[in-house]
Amino acid sequence: MKFIALIIIVIIITCIFYSFRPFINREDVSIANGKETKSTKEDYALQRKIMVEQQIVARGVKNKKVLDAMTSVPRHLFVPERYRHGSYFDQPLLIGSGQTISQPYIVALMTEMLDVDNDDVVLEIGTGSGYQAAVLSTIVKELYTIEIIEELGLQATERLKKLGYDNVKVKISDGSLGWPEKAPFDAIIVTAAAPKIPDPLIKQLKPGGRMVIPVDNNYYSQDLLIVEKDEDGNIVTRNTIPVRFVPLVEGEKSAK
Ligand code: SAH
Repeated sequence: MKFIALIIIVIIITCIFYSFRPFINREDVSIANGKETKSTKEDYALQRKIMVEQQIVARGVKNKKVLDAMTSVPRHLFVPERYRHGSYFDQPLLIGSGQTISQPYIVALMTEMLDVDNDDVVLEIGTGSGYQAAVLSTIVKELYTIEIIEELGLQATERLKKLGYDNVKVKISDGSLGWPEKAPFDAIIVTAAAPKIPDPLIKQLKPGGRMVIPVDNNYYSQDLLIVEKDEDGNIVTRNTIPVRFVPLVEGEKSAK
């Protein structure tokens, strides 16, 4: 009887250990000082490949440029060290200042919805870690991105520069006002939840251009909208899927 009880206890302890294993930080030692060893790099590249197949292709994203971008951009280098082991999990992650880097699938889906190409000039609102900016920058000609939290904006600027994403420009400001000096844009992507589509962004969209933006609905989440401006300047809006983003804050409020 005692023996059976002992075996049951061992089984329970083993189960508990394995269920916590993904959260135990195993890898970071090998990327101390920001230097990756060859094996860590290869390991992350493999995790990325699996992420693309199981989370992105499996859910219907097809655009080859988007899949190539998701396969090449090292997401783990956009995530704070303590969460790095979870970089390729099917979930958003904390990036500091109460903000998050979106789930990989949502990044891929929004990039595909934007339908951009290598001669496009694109604006992103909500730089965060700079990951979405890096993904887009591998596809488009120029990527302008605005972040309202100074600390995040500065970190992302540094990171993007270090990783060689040279066609990205970061500005620290209220993105709901857009970037008038660089307008008009072929496409605009908003990666924070807006109460409504900001007028300046509609104005700064080129005729024939499109915007992808999560807008608050009545269900404590947002509708992911595709907003298209036709050649005559008319706006057509399509609702796609429900999503959940951190809020787009107003400049004056956040400055306090
Ligand atoms: N695209 C990011 C994740 C976005 S999280 C990435 O790939 O990591 C949303 C970001 O929007 C946060 O960093 C938040 O600070 C920023 N944000 C919120 N309101 C904003 C505003 N009005 N203007 C610019 N950025 C804003």
